[in-house]
Amino acid sequence: QTVFIPRELDANEPRVAASPDTVKRLAGLGLDVVVETGAGTRSRIPDEEFAKAGAVIGKAGDVAKADVVLKVRRPGEAELKGYKSGTTVIAIMDPYGNDAAVAALAKAGVTAFSMEFMPRITRAQSMDVLSSQANLAGYQAVIDGASEYDRALPMMMTAAGTVPAAKVFIMGVGVAGLQAIATARRLGAVVTATDVRPAAKEQVASLGAKFLAVEDEEFKAAETAGGYAKEMSKEYQAKQAALTAEHIAKQDIVITTALIPGRPAPKLVSAAMVDSMKPGSVLVDLAVERGGNVEGAVPGQVVTTANNVKIVGHLNVPGRVAASASLLYARNLYAFVETLVDKTTKTLAINRDDDLVKATMLTDGGKIVHPAFAKAAE
Ligand code: NAD
Repeated sequence: QTVFIPRELDANEPRVAASPDTVKRLAGLGLDVVVETGAGTRSRIPDEEFAKAGAVIGKAGDVAKADVVLKVRRPGEAELKGYKSGTTVIAIMDPYGNDAAVAALAKAGVTAFSMEFMPRITRAQSMDVLSSQANLAGYQAVIDGASEYDRALPMMMTAAGTVPAAKVFIMGVGVAGLQAIATARRLGAVVTATDVRPAAKEQVASLGAKFLAVEDEEFKAAETAGGYAKEMSKEYQAKQAALTAEHIAKQDIVITTALIPGRPAPKLVSAAMVDSMKPGSVLVDLAVERGGNVEGAVPGQVVTTANNVKIVGHLNVPGRVAASASLLYARNLYAFVETLVDKTTKTLAINRDDDLVKATMLTDGGKIVHPAFAKAAE
């Protein structure tokens, strides 16, 4: 059976769904691997490296022969025309609010898996694309913030005088936020952080940053069984805003990462808070593609306010470290594919009762099968 790795068509997607390492591993499972020419270029993996690892270098049309397609982004309707019915497609499907695109996957007859729905259980840790990509996004957010900031981050005591350490505030300390704290600390900043989940408090402290939050009864119950944050009440949000407003006014760089699964991102920084910051301060909004945490953030742009505060809203932040992001993403996909292949027959044998399959399968046999989307489509 054949695995095909296409070149991503989205101009804003430099990542690729395989690496030389995973090509070798996929071949080891008994699969024939075909990589579209140029698929790895923007992740600094030339065709020759894929070929050396055992892949055949092909063209876009080879998708028609594929039993499995590994991608970064969901294939669009035009792209799907090249797929044969029954093909297994594994990608970040981003189905929320994209009903027509999900319907198109079903109509094409492909078995589509949404990697971002992988349950956060021990067995699936190596398949957790949200974590692998958020970790790099958290790192890159600090790098982007530092490069827009026109002062140094570490305290520097020199013969010519002292440069004070920058104050960095991280809002939302899941995977991205924790890496942002670690990165800002490595650069010598004085770091504070906030979150609505009590578990975050200890993690922030263990990284040497100070935790700041409204720790009321609602805070104590803000973590879902899945480990994510709940959407907080209007009352809590007001208390949180009152607490953080004064703090934000004193910060040099604010990095926001707050997300709620399946919901728009919470608004954490108002226009008034942005205006309260000193000229030259920087906000980096990692949630900008999901509605944004910062008022005035524009997807894909660096906005400079009248008061000379910059609001950074880069799209696809993991893609800004594409070479690293692709290596980790490719390994996440491989770890999942390995569970779908029968080791003796060396063919695809999807166990539809497996919890990982049940959690991630979006379409199958011409239908939308994921419980969160099947009903809405009826
Ligand atoms: P996420 O991307 O969904 O959200 C980012 C952060 O924003 C979260 O920490 C969340 O609590 C926070 N947030 C949401 N609303 C907020 C608000 N109003 N104000 C401030 N902060 C707010 O989260 P994530 O990075 O996916 O991580 C969620 C949890 O899952 C973390 O505890 C993480 O450590 C855990 N996790 C577990 C595993 C595993 O067990 N395999 C893997 C990865 C992550």
